[in-house]
Amino acid sequence: MADIQSIAVIGAGTMGSGIAHVFARSGFQVTLCDVEQRFLDRALASIRTNLGREAAKGKLSEAEIEPTLSRIRATVDMQSLTGAELAVEAAPERYELKAEVFRALDRILPSTAILATNTSSISITKMAALTRRPAQVIGMHFFNPVPVMALVEVVRGMATSDSSFATVYEVAVLLGKTPVEVNDAPGFVSNRVLMPLINEAAFAVMEGVATPEAIDQVFKLGMAHPMGPLTLADFIGIDVCLDILRVLQEGFGDPKYRPCPLLVRMVDAGWLGRKSNRGFFTYEK
Ligand code: NAD
Repeated sequence: MADIQSIAVIGAGTMGSGIAHVFARSGFQVTLCDVEQRFLDRALASIRTNLGREAAKGKLSEAEIEPTLSRIRATVDMQSLTGAELAVEAAPERYELKAEVFRALDRILPSTAILATNTSSISITKMAALTRRPAQVIGMHFFNPVPVMALVEVVRGMATSDSSFATVYEVAVLLGKTPVEVNDAPGFVSNRVLMPLINEAAFAVMEGVATPEAIDQVFKLGMAHPMGPLTLADFIGIDVCLDILRVLQEGFGDPKYRPCPLLVRMVDAGWLGRKSNRGFFTYEK
């Protein structure tokens, strides 16, 4: 494996802060980059809190918290990423924005560096084609909350080289994650399989087949899912689910991915799940 020590994480939101956390925790030097200092401050505060939680659970010692944090440098200056050997982009899920970030990373990072994206739905192949190094562009799809969830989908674009794949796969193992190899296709494996389940559960609610509570009970008790599909949809965000279903519908051109009209109405109503305190279920403020 290429000797990778220096990581750039682009975007310090929900996912970027978790990604910086797990890299620093495993001994990598991390530069966390966002557009405003306040987002970096918020990310560092949340990483500190989450490391504290891990220490409370005995997953690391108190003495490891400060050294872990000291391995994270926060910056608003993308130009300072010149030493990174691997970049993991976790900017918002908008193609134009990610395209701009990728073109900049391609200009700034050494020609040997690997450019990974944490996108949930944008084509890795399309992102790779924006760069002068398509063989070194790959998907590294983490799951929320990153420090807790074991899975990383390692997504091969059409041009991704075997050596880039092997490097990213091994890096994921060093993070204590379980990487799974996936080829580039809309929704990869995770969302391609999960979103039709959530969509069908929404149709069942809309058609009065059962209540949201009953549907979730079926999956928890009958299929040993830790969380029913509608609780999971509220956790992910109904708007995010709807966006991903539209990506699947457009990407495959197959009507089987048609979003349930109830999901569309919920988004129109602002019932976005946990983040708006109301989705299929209601939550305390
Ligand atoms: P988020 O909105 O919480 O964070 C995005 C961060 O990127 C923000 O802090 C924003 O200020 C920053 N940003 C915007 N433009 C930037 C730029 N030009 N350069 C650097 N930073 C910039 O989003 P998120 O939920 O962390 O999602 C990030 C990515 O991860 C998306 O592609 C999303 O699809 C993917 N993803 C999200 C989840 C999830 O459950 N949230 C799970 C898997 C994958």
